Amino acid sequence: MDRTGPAVPQTTIFTVMSALALEHRAVNLGQGFPDESGPARVIEAAAAAMREGRNQYPPLAGVPELREAIAAHQRHWYGLEPDVDDGVVVTAGATEAVAAAMLAFVRPGDEVVAMEPFYDSYKASVELAGGTIVPWRLEAPAFRPDLVRLKEIVTDRTRVLLLNSPHNPTGTVLDRAELEAVARVAAERDLLVVTDEVYEHLVFDGLAHVPFASLPGMWERTVSIGSAGKTFSVTGWKIGWATGPADLVGRLKGVKQYLTFASGTPFQYGIAEALASGPEFYEEYVADYAERRDLLASGLADLGFTVHRPQGTYFVTAGAAPLGYADGLALCLELPERCGVVAIPNQVFYADPATPRPEVRFTFCKPREVLEEGLKRLRDGLPR
Ligand SMILES: *Cc1c(COP(=O)(O)O)cnc(C)c1O
Repeated sequence: MDRTGPAVPQTTIFTVMSALALEHRAVNLGQGFPDESGPARVIEAAAAAMREGRNQYPPLAGVPELREAIAAHQRHWYGLEPDVDDGVVVTAGATEAVAAAMLAFVRPGDEVVAMEPFYDSYKASVELAGGTIVPWRLEAPAFRPDLVRLKEIVTDRTRVLLLNSPHNPTGTVLDRAELEAVARVAAERDLLVVTDEVYEHLVFDGLAHVPFASLPGMWERTVSIGSAGKTFSVTGWKIGWATGPADLVGRLKGVKQYLTFASGTPFQYGIAEALASGPEFYEEYVADYAERRDLLASGLADLGFTVHRPQGTYFVTAGAAPLGYADGLALCLELPERCGVVAIPNQVFYADPATPRPEVRFTFCKPREVLEEGLKRLRDGLPR
């Protein structure tokens, strides 16, 4: 019996590092999940939905209350007007939305251009659809997109451009000029664009998140993906969504119906409540994370790392070359035992994950005391 299938990794770096974190009682600055739960009223709304008996299958597209809240959020923040019935679909996190989009749009042999380093599910999803991921590299140390390079790597086989801004792991936030340049390429080459915007509300220094779909002429060719996990600190609920024109969202729904069909009814009601949050919630959220970013970024710089100060997300990418590590994976495998700290090597987010790279990703979605403890342990344990 031939037991081979599509080559998808069986263990991810997160599994490896979480096991090491447990073994060494390490401060886990690796995987990006907050220690604290989201707002009490959001938790209460989900609990109330459960008590009220909203525990059966929701509609394929999601409960109407949540679809309306998602559409209202897109209108309020960005002036976008997805159709509540045909232009919004609730998914099992952004992860399912990405997978469903790839399975819906990518045919065997097609190419998908994605900003590299990229979130680890992208490559697997593209390959499950029979496509090939073509990395569009953000080069260290600035990690800005190279638009000349983009034109070179788009071929006749390119089907989808997969964007991620604010960008995990580098923290780069694409600005309007960069997005406009990407839009020109998308229009010239007639590409579908899928955008991962799960960090849309985590943008610092007075910068603004600009959804690609809001650029002139881009709505018709774009599927925008969001998620409640990061914004409302409920990553375990796995409520995400995709919005866009009815024909594209319809194709995605067609696939999704055979992946999960639907999930998380009471959580969907919780997120409908969450999305109705006033501006003070978002202001506080950004201000709180900006403080933690400054704490971690300056702490790592003091230790000698080459720190790339993120414009968005809750990750800091830090180069370890000045500490004598050209290989970030080697450092990350050593850190739990040596210092009692866990971080993620950026090299796992590249199309070729075997090439050593000096950058390491630390998350700051942890309480101040935890960040301070992590920095102290690094100070005590790192070679100097
Ligand atoms: C966390 C994350 C996701 C996954 O979101 P879920 O809603 O938990 O599935 C997708 N993309 C990026 C860039 C992420 O950081």
